[in-house]
Amino acid sequence: MRKKIAAANWKMNLTLAQGEQLINDVLQAGIKLPEGHEVVFAVPFPYLMRAKALVKNYPGFYVAAQNCYSEKSGAFTGEVSAEMLQSIGVDFVVLGHSERREYFQESNAMLAKKIDLALANGLKPIFCCGEPLEIRKAETQNEYVARQLEESLYHLTAEQMQQVVIAYEPIWAIGTGLTASAAQAQDMHAYIRAQIANKYGKEIALGLTILYGGSAKPSNAGELCACPDVDGGLIGGASLVAADFTAIIGKL
Ligand code: 13P
Repeated sequence: MRKKIAAANWKMNLTLAQGEQLINDVLQAGIKLPEGHEVVFAVPFPYLMRAKALVKNYPGFYVAAQNCYSEKSGAFTGEVSAEMLQSIGVDFVVLGHSERREYFQESNAMLAKKIDLALANGLKPIFCCGEPLEIRKAETQNEYVARQLEESLYHLTAEQMQQVVIAYEPIWAIGTGLTASAAQAQDMHAYIRAQIANKYGKEIALGLTILYGGSAKPSNAGELCACPDVDGGLIGGASLVAADFTAIIGKL
């Protein structure tokens, strides 16, 4: 059975003290993670080692970086490599978030390089895809997402693909309070799984964890997670409140 994941994406929020408190509150909420359920905290770079130390003795709890660079090493002032992340025990890395695509001009081709470096360094990529509002209005979201998958992932071997988690995040739903309906999420997740099945075969597609992101919160997480192809969430705003994120974990 494929894994179910609740991933917190803090983005550029919280001080270290606030972040520590948040992780501790979630860890101490007494959650009993069933087999195959995982919780991931995608925290800012400076907090990664501390976050890892906090979750270390809690099976099923992991940390993620929110990005890494597309080159192995060298004269790239201010950037962080996949190898550096591996060297401090990071488990996952979020790649291709729409905010990075938009504000930092990350292209599908650049993301393909980041995915390769993440995998080469034992990090599990959480690869984000999803369409802007005008594409949804034009009803061409399937083609748009298919292209993101093709240009960033389809050079991978089947074995590599098994390490990847996909997060579908419709841009029009991120931080807007507008959530995709359960039917919209299910349709896209089923479509993504079918695309992966075409390329990599049914078994790999069935094993692929596909998360939904975009204004997910305790009040809608249950309905979203009940969809057969929705395997959890990548949570922004609601992951900054311990009680909300804990409630979402309980709805996986
Ligand atoms: P919100 O949950 O705040 O809409 O953010 C979603 C997101 O971008 C997670 O990566």
